[in-house]
Amino acid sequence: MDNLREIKEGKLYFDGCDMTELARTYGTPLYVMSYNGIREPLEELQRDFVDKYPGARVAYASKAFCTKGMYEILKQMGTDVEVVSGGELYVAEQVNFPPEKVEFNGNNKTPAEIDQAVRYGVGRIILDGLQEIPLILEACKKYDRKMKITVRITPGVAASTHDYIVTGKLDSKFGIPLEREVLLPIIKQIVDSEYLEFMGLQMHIGSQLFENDAFLDGLNIVMDWVDILKKELDVAVKEVDFGGGFGARYTDEVRKPYRFFLDPMMDLMKKRSEEIGIPCPAPVIEPGRSIVAEAGLTLYTVGQIKEIKGVRKYISIDGGMGDNIRVGLYQAEYDGIVANRAEEEKDDKVCVCGRYCESTDIIMTDFMVPHTTKMGDILATFSTGAYGFSMASNYNNNPIPGVVLVRDGKSAWMVKPQTYAQIAQNQVIPDIL
Ligand SMILES: *Cc1c(COP(=O)(O)O)cnc(C)c1O
Repeated sequence: MDNLREIKEGKLYFDGCDMTELARTYGTPLYVMSYNGIREPLEELQRDFVDKYPGARVAYASKAFCTKGMYEILKQMGTDVEVVSGGELYVAEQVNFPPEKVEFNGNNKTPAEIDQAVRYGVGRIILDGLQEIPLILEACKKYDRKMKITVRITPGVAASTHDYIVTGKLDSKFGIPLEREVLLPIIKQIVDSEYLEFMGLQMHIGSQLFENDAFLDGLNIVMDWVDILKKELDVAVKEVDFGGGFGARYTDEVRKPYRFFLDPMMDLMKKRSEEIGIPCPAPVIEPGRSIVAEAGLTLYTVGQIKEIKGVRKYISIDGGMGDNIRVGLYQAEYDGIVANRAEEEKDDKVCVCGRYCESTDIIMTDFMVPHTTKMGDILATFSTGAYGFSMASNYNNNPIPGVVLVRDGKSAWMVKPQTYAQIAQNQVIPDIL
């Protein structure tokens, strides 16, 4: 991924494009996504997972970055997608994403969303609770469709990551707890239904993981249940979904190749399947962050610079928590560079802060820049491709910035910047005033 970022004649380039020039052409703040940066991890997965293991599938977790252009890239690459809302499914529908390649997940799917998913004919619904079943059956009858069902379970393992992004532990709003009295009747109900086809089990341990121990612990628990289902219901699980959570590089983390996680998991799944006496289930993964995080960066224009003598120097940018809430939300750390001074010595420690009315609106706390940095310079923050645009807000009525796709020196809008009129378009003066 590093080769996508280059420094030429003192300036930062990304996927062949001059970022200073891009900022001047398209305006800031601006999200930039690299086509080759998105393609690279997808190709790695094709080679080291899909082509290697029979039936293996990759379902990109849309919530990391969901746009029509992203879906178009995935469509061209033959990747599946996972959606967790009617809104994400709507965007997939807009680009005619092949319905059978869409998985619908979510811990509280509304009746309308279930109807939408069944109408579109999604490839899988990932069940997250008993009460979803009657809603799915109702929609199946309405559209005269069968649905493939994967059941999300909570393996009860704690992954070593920030507590806010742990999802696989027992005390979690996600998944179905592993209790015989709960899980077995659900699966029996699916197996017995003429409208439903039971595919298998899904887990999602957490996010930004760099070790495979929690993945293996989780998979072991899933396989215990594959065993129980075989023995007690004579059901052979056809698919096991390992979830997402593969770590991406933000600052000085060392990114692990997908095979570091997946090869040991496949070895384990094959061994356990043999012991249970069933064919090895097809593996599915749902990476989000690791596909798009490093493929993105954000460009800002430097504004006010305030030096509080002996305390700190603040550099203000024209964006902040509205386009990147991750710092305020879970103390995420970023690296970056002054794009137009990329070769100057970084000799000044500053705090990069946003323009939103919250003290937590900080993007980088102790960040080194050249002391010559001044108003009008272009600041780039790296690895902002995941959970940046997708978590953007209109706080302070600031428009959500646009997204430009860069590819081998070419650039084009992927999402145009929001206008003030668009922010206010649904606001009305109540007629009871
Ligand atoms: C968030 C999520 C993912 C993707 O996680 P990343 O850390 O972005 O890879 C995958 N599956 C489920 C169920 C999720 O909730």
